[in-house]
Amino acid sequence: MNISPISKITLDGREFFVKRDDLIDPFLAGNKYRKLYTLLQTPSNKLSKIISYGGTQSNAMLAISAMCQSKKWEFIYYTKPLSATQKEQNDGNFFHAKRLGMQHIEIDEFFYKDFIASLRLNLDKKIYIVDQGGADKLAKEGLEILAKEITEANLHVKSVATPSGTGTTALFLALALPEYRVYTTPCVGDVEYLKLQMQSLYDIPKNLIILEPNKKYHFAKPYLDHFEIYQKTLQAGIEFDLLYAPLMWRCLLEQTHEDILYIHSGGVSGNKSMLKRYEKKGFK
Ligand SMILES: *Cc1c(COP(=O)(O)O)cnc(C)c1O
Repeated sequence: MNISPISKITLDGREFFVKRDDLIDPFLAGNKYRKLYTLLQTPSNKLSKIISYGGTQSNAMLAISAMCQSKKWEFIYYTKPLSATQKEQNDGNFFHAKRLGMQHIEIDEFFYKDFIASLRLNLDKKIYIVDQGGADKLAKEGLEILAKEITEANLHVKSVATPSGTGTTALFLALALPEYRVYTTPCVGDVEYLKLQMQSLYDIPKNLIILEPNKKYHFAKPYLDHFEIYQKTLQAGIEFDLLYAPLMWRCLLEQTHEDILYIHSGGVSGNKSMLKRYEKKGFK
């Protein structure tokens, strides 16, 4: 694939650079493309099946579906039981993932944890398990390539930023860019939880800076704060996702002053179903 371009965006009178990883592919884009890079380079005949699990709005789920379709690998995705409305949605990540061939299996809440733990037992060589959200050491190579693209762009900027779920992206990016400052913020849990998740993969390097939001937000809930930032960036010319990017932008605008390269982490395909939830709350 070609190198993703870099755009500029002006927010609150400040100019930011944006690495457009969102433009890589409609379904397999953003940091999920980077995290799945090694699997994407794997010859089709080396594997027959990918197994993963997690939420049904997941961007990782959609990216893995797109990858498996192009590789002709079977894709099994386990979740906890879904509501009827979730199953009937005719847009959003879950809908598209199924159209791309994902086989969805619901596991009873009571057995879910043990079931997921048991997946790795008796595993066939041709089956690969991608942990929830793609939190995997496998992500290293793809993020090293992103780091190379960043240094080779030769911007004067020495700080980059990207929001965290599992923290896999920010961690491996920071490890690959020791001469840069890498900002992130926890979108799913708090700072301590994010640190634990990162430490389960690797020691956290000094150049990785975790910004703490000034307010507590629950992941994937609609907030007027998030919606306002979403609209502000959209009006400035770039659409970002509604789950992660708003919090990262808020932290950058409130807590940093230098020039920054924002790594667009994708996820825009999930906005349609999220915008519906905002509309129901009266935000337009
Ligand atoms: C998955 C995702 C993230 C979080 O990535 P991690 O590597 O799990 O921290 C951030 N932004 C978007 C849009 C995502 O889809």
